[in-house]
Amino acid sequence: MIQKSRFAPSPTGYLHLGNARTALFAWLAARHDGGSFVLRIEDTDRERSPRQYEDALLEDLRWLGLDWDEGPDCGGAHGPYRQMERQAIYGELYQRLLDSGLAYPCYCTPEMLAAEREQQRAAGRAPRYSGRCRDLDASARADMEAQGLRPSLRFRVATTGRLRVADLIWGEREYALADLGDFVIRRSDGSPAFFFANAVDDALMGVDLVLRGEDHLSNTPRQILILQALGLTPPRYGHLPLLLGRDAQPLSKRHGAASLRDLREAGFLPQALRNYLARLGHHYAEEDGRLLDDTELRQRFRLEGIGRAPAHFDLEQLEHWQAQAVQSMTTEQLAAWLAAELAELAEPEDRRAFVELIRPNIHFPAQVRDWLQRLLHDPEPDPEALRVLRETPEEFWAAAAHSFSAQAEDWKAWVAALQEASGRRGRALFQPLRAALTGRLHGPELAGWCALMGSERCRQRLAQAGRWAQSSAPI
Ligand code: GLU
Ligand code: ZN
Repeated sequence: MIQKSRFAPSPTGYLHLGNARTALFAWLAARHDGGSFVLRIEDTDRERSPRQYEDALLEDLRWLGLDWDEGPDCGGAHGPYRQMERQAIYGELYQRLLDSGLAYPCYCTPEMLAAEREQQRAAGRAPRYSGRCRDLDASARADMEAQGLRPSLRFRVATTGRLRVADLIWGEREYALADLGDFVIRRSDGSPAFFFANAVDDALMGVDLVLRGEDHLSNTPRQILILQALGLTPPRYGHLPLLLGRDAQPLSKRHGAASLRDLREAGFLPQALRNYLARLGHHYAEEDGRLLDDTELRQRFRLEGIGRAPAHFDLEQLEHWQAQAVQSMTTEQLAAWLAAELAELAEPEDRRAFVELIRPNIHFPAQVRDWLQRLLHDPEPDPEALRVLRETPEEFWAAAAHSFSAQAEDWKAWVAALQEASGRRGRALFQPLRAALTGRLHGPELAGWCALMGSERCRQRLAQAGRWAQSSAPI
């Protein structure tokens, strides 16, 4: 039973798809059990965290359909929810660690530390802090301070013993404490180090489930040591395998999208994204490939369904979910989604009829724009359609115009009359008509198309078709 999970992004750019998936998993896991969800902004890298990215992040998460009970915008009982506003809280905890001897100031300069690592590497050992400042006495420290050195703060790790860490996805791992080395919990500029702020915030905020990227797996033992030293309860951790592109390379623009915003701007629906992301590295029991609604997505989400293999993002699969999401919308939802594209249609009734007509033919708003242009403004036939117009003899167009004039309001009667007059049926009949009326060879159902276009425009297009057939416009 999960009480509370969270998403803790560092707002250094637009929300990466891998992080969007992490956020979605954490949210689904919390909401599955009716638990609550926290959004915490990890902005300790001050230069790289301008406020505009935080705003974009909240907007993108909301667009994806996530909501949170505590966060920088709505507050909550365990705030503030931006780490740089939590310095006073960290200050007290640092003091407790200092008082109990579990943390100590380290005066080593970056150059000294780099030289130390270089030596260890040359000797074939894993780089680790040497412990130079571990046992400085009060007068040595006073000396350093007098020289104007600003210390970082290090956590003192026992040099013997082992630590077992359980992970929901990777199982239990054991670490020799001596291998960890004393690590920095406060930087020399006073800002909190990731290990520290991240761990104590989870505990102080009452988070009992942390889902995050696999790249944080090796941070967990240090974080647990900090929490143990402070008498705080660690959450359960689960580290999600990486999200890669179809070619198994890290996800980037080359794969069609790297951020959630790219996909949003390309016209994808949040419902499609939720359905696809929820299946990347997680599988639903009794998966039948059906689009799940939000209740199903969270009720059927299981931590046991998360696998260890890297997941591969594939734009084509996302399009498959997009198609299903378009099919599943009500007429009203469809019209609302496409409101901007439909602006030229004044009558709400026409909008509804139009979206229903083109629903099977569209995945993205840009395609709707194209069909509406074709409906309202005489389209130039595309090359395939032009070829069909040319191959259709003049007599057919004359017969079409003639029978149309007699039966303009009755599609069925018109088609029957034209069939009779031209001797054509099926594809031979409908393909040239479609080419003339829409300028393409594939598209929406023609009867509905004509009804929306109105008989006057239909007549004009049939007449125009004969002219296109005779024109010498290049194909
Ligand atoms: N700010 C960290 C990140 O974005 C959070 C890691 C975590 O979820 O614990 O990678
Ligand atoms: Zn030192």
